[in-house]
Amino acid sequence: MIFPGGFRTRSDRFRKFHRFPAAKLGVAMVVQIFSWIVLGLALLALGAFGVTSIKEREWRAVLVTTLFVVFGLGPFALVLVLNFPGRQALLMVMLLFAGLVLVALLVPFGKKTSLQVTGPIPRLDERDALFHRFYRLKPGTEDFEAYYDEHQDKLDFDNKLRALPGLAEPGSKTFEPVSSNYHASMDSQLEYLNRFLDEDLEPLGTPPENFSSQELTWRTRQFARFLGADLVGCTRLNQSHVYSHVGRGSGAFGSPIDLSHHTHALVIAVRMSSEMVRRAPGLPALTETSFRYLQLANMAMVLARYINRLGYSARAHVDGNYRVMCVPIAVDAGLGELGRLGLLVTRNYGPRVRLAVVTTDLPLLPDKPKNFGVQEFCGICAKCATNCPSGSVDKGKKRQHRGVEKWRTEMDSCYRTWRKLGSDCGVCVKVCPYSHPDTFMHKLVRFVISTNPMARRLMLLADDIFYGRRPMKRPPSPPWFS
Ligand code: SF4
Ligand code: SF4
Repeated sequence: MIFPGGFRTRSDRFRKFHRFPAAKLGVAMVVQIFSWIVLGLALLALGAFGVTSIKEREWRAVLVTTLFVVFGLGPFALVLVLNFPGRQALLMVMLLFAGLVLVALLVPFGKKTSLQVTGPIPRLDERDALFHRFYRLKPGTEDFEAYYDEHQDKLDFDNKLRALPGLAEPGSKTFEPVSSNYHASMDSQLEYLNRFLDEDLEPLGTPPENFSSQELTWRTRQFARFLGADLVGCTRLNQSHVYSHVGRGSGAFGSPIDLSHHTHALVIAVRMSSEMVRRAPGLPALTETSFRYLQLANMAMVLARYINRLGYSARAHVDGNYRVMCVPIAVDAGLGELGRLGLLVTRNYGPRVRLAVVTTDLPLLPDKPKNFGVQEFCGICAKCATNCPSGSVDKGKKRQHRGVEKWRTEMDSCYRTWRKLGSDCGVCVKVCPYSHPDTFMHKLVRFVISTNPMARRLMLLADDIFYGRRPMKRPPSPPWFS
């Protein structure tokens, strides 16, 4: 700046000396440098994704990545190394495009809605759920007659299914004389454990002095992790998520359930192997499911015993013997969100998890529910619905059901598919974009999905391109299944 009188200020000299590098190097040089950086980063990202895909043996993704490198980055590299009129302008357009893509993927905007509770949630009678009809009601018993007297509309459908062999049983589609026994043996062990579930529920002794709820919560969570839980969450127990009457598991059929003295719940989740889930539907995926439920039963029962020994009442809720609905409690405990397929979708493993709950009067410090964009992503994705062999997953918009706005899965047709296949199907879990392995690249994608609506659309498009809209191809079963 020149003052009246002709003096130059210090800042004028400073500016003259330290001009912006663009001016020194020239715009062309800056564009060139940025272009090389963008090309390098894109190569690095696609290279890392390619390596991840090779490790996961996702050959379609490997092929698409190679095509992207050759036909996407190849021309970019050619523009960089060749000299022709208009090259500078073309590079600037490419850089602008890359910048816009980055902004679209990384800048957070738009709202993320949580699950909408629209009214009171009435308690569900477990006899109105599906599994008890096939696992608890035995033809010829009083309970059987009484149930079908009231629900005559279901009798014909249920009897047709009863005529089919059970999961992995002789005569079923998946039956194999040796490897079907992996599932059967774990299933019978789970049944054995279930016999002891209702023993020792009450406190042994009195709660330890000088231990705050915070300390006890922390120790219980750490213990759950030690036992093998991949995810642990705590919540106040919403009594709406407690079944009103026994339908399955221990206790007299139809007897009322009272868990009003249990004020809190601990939820544990274990992830399922993505390798086994990718083989759904079939015996490997069914074996994986049984294994995870058995693991969870052991963990949840030990945790309930541990809490009893601390001087509090506790009950484990495990496969085949629930008194509560695990998914809404897991949502309350911040383990994930409810997905279109009716299962919990977790941030790192998607729906590729199994759950167990321990209810208790130990005042566990509650976690907060999480929101990372699942409701919005499910709204545009519907891959589970597109691939469901029985059309059981809702393809449309969310609807009101028992006081909550959500998608509904038709359980009767889903279970009919299980019996026809002789396995627990699991195609919806397998195809979900959140189910990919928990590697760095997939974590990055899950982060991007949570940022904004545009990123969600782009990531869904990418999932369809890299893995297919109908990724039904199954890798061969491991040799110990053949
Ligand atoms: S388990 Fe299979 S049949 Fe059932 S909802 Fe999922 S995809 Fe459909
Ligand atoms: S497949 Fe898509 S719609 Fe279905 S649960 Fe997963 S993200 Fe949601």
